Amino acid sequence: MEDEDVIIGLEVHVQLNKLKTKMFCSCSINYHGDEPNTHVCPVCLGLPGAMPVLNKEAVKAGIKVALALHADVQSFTIFDRKNYFYPDLPKGFQISQYDNPLAWGGYVVIETEKGEKKIALKRIHMEEDPGKLSYTGSITTASYSLIDYNRSGVPLLEIVTEPVIRSPKEARQFLNKLRIILEYLDVFDGSLEGAMRVDANISIKGGGRVEIKNISSFKGVEKALTYEITRQRNLIRMGRAVKRETRHFDETNNITVSLRSKEEEQDYRYFPEPDLVPLYTDEIVEEVKQTLPEMPEEKRCRFREQYGLSDAFAKVLVLDIKMANYFEEVAKHVNPKLAASWIVDVLRGELNYRGKGFNFAYERLEPEELVKLLRYFEKEEITEKGVVEVIRTKLDRGGKVEDIIRQKSLFAIPKEEIERLCKKAIEDNPKAVEDYYAGKKQALNFLVGQVMKATRGRANPGETAKVMQNLLGF
Ligand code: ZN
Ligand code: MN
Repeated sequence: MEDEDVIIGLEVHVQLNKLKTKMFCSCSINYHGDEPNTHVCPVCLGLPGAMPVLNKEAVKAGIKVALALHADVQSFTIFDRKNYFYPDLPKGFQISQYDNPLAWGGYVVIETEKGEKKIALKRIHMEEDPGKLSYTGSITTASYSLIDYNRSGVPLLEIVTEPVIRSPKEARQFLNKLRIILEYLDVFDGSLEGAMRVDANISIKGGGRVEIKNISSFKGVEKALTYEITRQRNLIRMGRAVKRETRHFDETNNITVSLRSKEEEQDYRYFPEPDLVPLYTDEIVEEVKQTLPEMPEEKRCRFREQYGLSDAFAKVLVLDIKMANYFEEVAKHVNPKLAASWIVDVLRGELNYRGKGFNFAYERLEPEELVKLLRYFEKEEITEKGVVEVIRTKLDRGGKVEDIIRQKSLFAIPKEEIERLCKKAIEDNPKAVEDYYAGKKQALNFLVGQVMKATRGRANPGETAKVMQNLLGF
């Protein structure tokens, strides 16, 4: 589905949801799970006479993101009013930025099948989140809407790409990478509802540009774009025009539905917000530069050098800051290559299978516990199969590593014990020994089977066979 005539640009609304308070008032943004309309005040309800005060922490977080995305932070920026009527916007305008945004340019590197691709950014600006409308059933059929202003005024960054994305898959890769970067910066928690919402612009060369509004999942973006490409191509094939319009993505039916013909920028009557002074950023930029953390690419290089990891492992480990941190805690105490392979190849898969992330690993299989487990494995006191069994048990019901190993009898059988059991099998089964010397291969399997039976499968069959052959003389 990658075609040179497909043109996609994204406008990504990112909640700076690790902050404490809203963009222009002191209401808490930690409202998830609370009753609707309980985190509100005259400012975020848009009551007459209420005055906005800019949240400096939100500006710092915005600048941090802009710097990490290689954008050009502007020394002088101003806030503007974007005027439109909608019930989720009680003031009748949104405080946003227009021709003096926080930053211009920047890029995000994604990995495609054809190698790395730089997705160029157009601009990054700050704005306030509107309230949240809810519908019973679908937006197109509900007979009324409910409104919750808890979200009204949450600090948002709008990150706008150039129209350089060529396929729905590239769009998803871009959003994934953006999420990784935002989580590294510790300004964003992607697991919260509504944390990232995307408006996608898509056109096929020669046709009108269609904007799909407010898609709230990465899969949704990919599906909506895929649907749109098919819809627009069909129109073109039938010789009909693709109208310039705004559409809504219906997540239940996986289709896009026309909402309205697209408004033009002049319809918003942007003008500078008279209740806020212009913002000069030079000092804040200098301050924020000191706090920029190590980013994924740097971490990937360091992991290769410091721990001697292959690039394949380093690349996967840095995909998620929590996984990277978890790895480092384990790698302090056991062989880092061993830690990397168990975390990437096994733990990550087991978490995935349970629909969980590394937060869950921190809860159920703390790094110290994995260290203990891998130490047993390094000393060959537990088999590979045993390690997997303990990891699964820990994730499903917690408990201490030693207790699980003991309860499930997972401690490997010591070498001397294997040797003793092999000797016993030879003594007890003269007929099998005779068959073995006569060249019957399955006789060896039978003898090894006796040891496996005696240890209830805890002996390593390959090792046991070697010991047995030694005792038998060849
Ligand atoms: Zn408020
Ligand atoms: Mn916006």
